[in-house]
Amino acid sequence: MRVGFIGLGNMGLPMALNLVRAGHDVAGWDLQATAMQGFAAGGGRCAGDMADALDGAAAVVTMLPAGTHVRTAYLGAAGIIAAAPGALLIDASTIDVATARAVAAAAAAAGLDMLDAPVSGGVAGAAAATLTFMVGGSAAGFARAEPLLRAMSKNVVHAGAAGAGQAAKICNNMMLGINMLATAEAFVLADRLGLDRQKLFDIARVSSGQSWALSSYCPVPGPLPGSPANRDYAPGFAAALMLKDLSLAQQAAAESGAATPLGAAAAQLYQALVAAGQGGRDFSAVFPWLAAMPRGEVV
Ligand code: NAD
Repeated sequence: MRVGFIGLGNMGLPMALNLVRAGHDVAGWDLQATAMQGFAAGGGRCAGDMADALDGAAAVVTMLPAGTHVRTAYLGAAGIIAAAPGALLIDASTIDVATARAVAAAAAAAGLDMLDAPVSGGVAGAAAATLTFMVGGSAAGFARAEPLLRAMSKNVVHAGAAGAGQAAKICNNMMLGINMLATAEAFVLADRLGLDRQKLFDIARVSSGQSWALSSYCPVPGPLPGSPANRDYAPGFAAALMLKDLSLAQQAAAESGAATPLGAAAAQLYQALVAAGQGGRDFSAVFPWLAAMPRGEVV
């Protein structure tokens, strides 16, 4: 399939290269020269500009930082919706639900199918083509997109209508942020009570405190040798990206009227962690940060 791929950053580059490997004719475009060089070095075809990448494309995939970039790329006279007639549009960026719905509505008004298809799995999953796609949009659009998405992932789930993919992503990551904080707090308390970390891990892993944050991503060094805690919290999934997703969840909660007090507290705590200069560390670095925080310090 002829594909225009816009946004060849940390995630987009390996995803686009997986489409090339799967035999698709991919024209890549990014505002940064280094990203374009990476695409060329991996065997991709670099477009001269965005219009060139869209020219003749049967599908367009975007992987951009935030909602504002997505609006800029899709809307307007030179935007993707105007410049890619007949193409299937897939935005894999993690953005706010309202923007995802607004851009999909603009695409529908122009007669185009557009899907929001954010991913879980990080840079490693993008490179290994083991991402999970959560997809919002029409059933017909989903059926058209599925072969393309499968070439970049191991799980592809149709979550519902436009915006449902972004909704699934922020709900999942809100749970993850809260679970990570809950797990980190439990280890902080265990340390103070003189309870051995390995013992708490062994017990909670088979008890009702169990979660993915504990059993697959343990925030203290020791119990899980592969977790970022054992490499001084090198990411992984950076705290700044967790803050982004928690902020999107809070934005959606405010817009929809949902009560999410723990999500709000998690967003506040990650905001403080990032403000403390730790945004580039793994999001499990909340453990050493909380462990060093005096009780009663209000964040
Ligand atoms: P990134 O900043 O590395 O890449 C974004 C790229 O988009 C940059 O290279 C930038 O130059 C390019 N860009 C911006 N506007 C453009 C435009 N108008 N035309 C062409 N290129 C443009 O970000 P990333 O880590 O690849 O993340 C992309 C998205 O995926 C984000 O929404 C992020 O939240 C989401 N995500 C990231 C991860 C992760 O672990 N990095 C995991 C899951 C989801």
